[in-house]
Amino acid sequence: MSQESQNKMEKIVALAKRRGFIFPGSEIYGGLAGTWDYGPLGALLKKNFKDWWWRDMVQVRRDIVGIDAAIMMNPKAWEASGHVAAFTDPLVECKLCHARFRADKPEDTRAHEKTHKEKVFWTEPQKFNLLVRAYLGVIEGKESEIYLRGEITNGAQVNFKNIIDSTRVRVPFGVAQIGKAFRNEITPGNFIFRSREFEQMEVQFYIKPDEKEGEKWFQYWKQNRMDWFLSIGFHKEHLRFRDHASDERAHYASVACDIEFLAPWGWDEMMGIHHRGDWDLRRHQEYAKVDLHYTDPDTGEKYLPWDIETSSGVDRPLLFLLLESYAEEAGRAVLKLHPRLAPYTAAVFPLVANKPQLADAAGKIYDDLRKRFMVAWDERGNIGKRYFSQDEIGTPWCVTVDYQTLEDETVTVRDRDTMKQERVAIADLQTYFEEKLQ
Ligand code: ATP
Repeated sequence: MSQESQNKMEKIVALAKRRGFIFPGSEIYGGLAGTWDYGPLGALLKKNFKDWWWRDMVQVRRDIVGIDAAIMMNPKAWEASGHVAAFTDPLVECKLCHARFRADKPEDTRAHEKTHKEKVFWTEPQKFNLLVRAYLGVIEGKESEIYLRGEITNGAQVNFKNIIDSTRVRVPFGVAQIGKAFRNEITPGNFIFRSREFEQMEVQFYIKPDEKEGEKWFQYWKQNRMDWFLSIGFHKEHLRFRDHASDERAHYASVACDIEFLAPWGWDEMMGIHHRGDWDLRRHQEYAKVDLHYTDPDTGEKYLPWDIETSSGVDRPLLFLLLESYAEEAGRAVLKLHPRLAPYTAAVFPLVANKPQLADAAGKIYDDLRKRFMVAWDERGNIGKRYFSQDEIGTPWCVTVDYQTLEDETVTVRDRDTMKQERVAIADLQTYFEEKLQ
C-alpha cells in the first residue's frame, strides 16, 4: 500500500469512529476480531444503500421478488449446498508463533515474515472450513450443532417451491435478499472489507436451462451491476470486471466474474456474478427428497431452472464508497457521497444560537423537514465550522435561518460540493430537496 493510500485508509477509519459511522465491535471489552458496529451515521448510510438496492432490484422490477430468510437453517441444507465439504480456504501456520494465514494471500504471509527476525517456516496448507458453528437446544449435552449461514443464497434456494407456489412469478424471475452472513475468516482485515460477520445483498435469477439463455443473462447481470455501481457514485476508472480462472471458481459456479474496485491495497473484489447452473436446486432436491422442478405454465415443460446469481456484500462496497467519496479540498475534509446515500439530506442552523426568534423559525423548519428527510441540527460555534462539520459526514445541503428569513420567509441553502449558497423560500424547501434527490 502506498503511503498516500495508507493515510487515506487511516483517515477513513478515524473519521468513521469519531463521527459515529463505524465502531470496533465490543470495544470496551477489548473488541472481538472481525466484528464492527455501525453507529448512528453508519446505520443511516447503510440503510440508504440497502434501500436504493432494494428499490432498483425489487420495487421497480416486475421480475424479482424479495424475501427475508432465517440465518439458522437445518444443517442438512449446508451439506446439500456443498459448504460442509467445500467452503474452505487454504490455511498455513507460522511455525515460530503459530499465527495463521491464508496460503492464497502471499501479501499477508510476506508481511508476517517481516515481523520476525528469524526465517519463518510454514506448515503445509490445509483446508479450513469457514462455516461458523453454533449450538441450538435447551437440554445440556443434547444441543444440535448448526451453522450460521456462510452466504445468504440458500435461504432463496430452499424456498424455491414456496415462492413458485405462493406468487405469480414465472421463469425468468429473480429472488432478492439482504441479510447477515458469517464466516470464520482466517485473517479478517482492512477494516470492514473482510469481517467475520457481514451483510450480503443478492439476487438469484432463475432462467431456462439453455446455453444461450445462460450467456445472455450472465452478460445482462454483469452490465446491470456495473451500471448500478456507477450510478451510485463510483468512478469508472476505479471499477473493472475480472473473470475467474477455472481453478479459482467456487464449488457451485460454472462461470464467475467479479466486479473489482481499485482499493488502497490494489484491485480487489467488491461483488461476484456467478452462473450456478442447477447446482443448488438439484442438490436440495436430492438431499431434501422434494421435487423442485418448475413447470412451464404455457408448454407444460418440466425442468430445474439455472441460476445466475449476483452476490454483493453490503459493508465492502460501503468501505469502497467512503474511500471513493473522501476528499480534502478548500481547507476541509468532505465526503462527496451521492445525496441519496448521505446519512443526512440536510442540516438546519439558526445563524446564531442566542436569538430566540431565529431558533424558533429554524426549529419549525427542522421539525417540518424531518417528516420527510433525515435532517441534522447544529447551533454550536460559527457557521463556517458547522458547514465543515457537515461536509465531513457528507450532508449535501445546509439550511441557515438568518435575519432576512424573519422578513421574507427565505433561507440560505449552501451546497456541499460547490460551496455556493442560494436563497430558497421556506415553502419550496421540500420540493427543492426532492428534485435534487431524483
Ligand atoms: P473473498 O475472495 O474476498 O474471500 P468471496 O469470493 O469468498 O470473497 P463471495 O462468497 O463471492 O466472496 O461473497 C460475495 C460477496 O460478499 C463478496 O464479493 C463481498 O462483497 C462479500 N463478502 C464475502 N466475504 C466477506 C467478508 N468476510 N467480509 C465482508 N464482506 C464479504
